[in-house]
Amino acid sequence: MVDRLVHATRELGIALHLKTAVEKIEKNSAQFTVHAFVDGAPRTFQADLVVHGAGRVPEIDDLDLEAAGVKREKHGVTVNEFLQSVSNPTVYAAGDAAAKGPPLTPVAGMEGEIVAANLLKGNHRTPELAAVASIAYTLPSVASVGLLEAAAKEKGLKFRVNHQDTSEWYSTRRLGAKYSAFKVLVEDRTEQILGAHLIGPHAEEQINLFTLAIRSGIRSSDIEATLFAYPTGASDLSYMV
Ligand SMILES: Cc1cc2nc3c(=O)[nH]c(=O)nc-3n(C[C@H](O)[C@H](O)[C@H](O)COP(=O)(O)OP(=O)(O)OC[C@H]3O[C@@H](n4cnc5c(N)ncnc54)[C@H](O)[C@@H]3O)c2cc1C
Repeated sequence: MVDRLVHATRELGIALHLKTAVEKIEKNSAQFTVHAFVDGAPRTFQADLVVHGAGRVPEIDDLDLEAAGVKREKHGVTVNEFLQSVSNPTVYAAGDAAAKGPPLTPVAGMEGEIVAANLLKGNHRTPELAAVASIAYTLPSVASVGLLEAAAKEKGLKFRVNHQDTSEWYSTRRLGAKYSAFKVLVEDRTEQILGAHLIGPHAEEQINLFTLAIRSGIRSSDIEATLFAYPTGASDLSYMV
């Protein structure tokens, strides 16, 4: 999926440098100079603007958490399964501030509700983080939910991998799109969807249906048998499972 995105991005005219580690950024009178190592060799780039988009960190550095004995790590307050601080039980953390779950808006909303419930009625709710979809809103979008193939193998699961380039499918061609593909993992015994990884013009909506299938235990044969409205991105799902 990522290889296709790299091709698509370069075709848009964006110079994409992989395996490039930024060492430092200097501001000159009118421009920035980015010092980097490309495949280990030093190289500089001139730019009008430099944007750091490599992930995010919680804004909790100025809370003086140490004073209250609140243990933290790089990605937030260290919490137990009830989102309660492991070192100070009077403190709970949700969303980006908690070192549990990916830093995403729907996760923050869910964790906020859980923290409120646990504060009011004692620890009784835990977040369900097994299948949280994530999307990179690139052109085209890439989307992912559930297990990657390597992770499913590591768990010793028995499953089939449906992997196909769909750039010739009607749903892609009618939009004049060039890149689309999917990789869907289906467990042999249970027909459960273990993971879905997509690129293409419908990926950001299709991934929600796979998320529903994983979280609700909808079988691949149920998806296959569903008469989705046609032509839609959803109607492709029957052929992906
Ligand atoms: C550029 C960018 C793009 C993103 N894109 C997506 C996306 O496409 N999809 C997605 O799901 N997520 C996305 N996210 C992540 C998403 O925005 C966060 O995961 C989500 O907002 C976390 O919610 P939160 O309530 O935990 O924290 P926030 O939304 O950060 O809310 C924390 C609030 O607390 C306030 N605050 C901080 N310190 C104090 C203090 N000491 N006292 C009082 N108030 C304080 C802050 O001002 C802020 O309003 C993106 C984030 C960024 C930065």
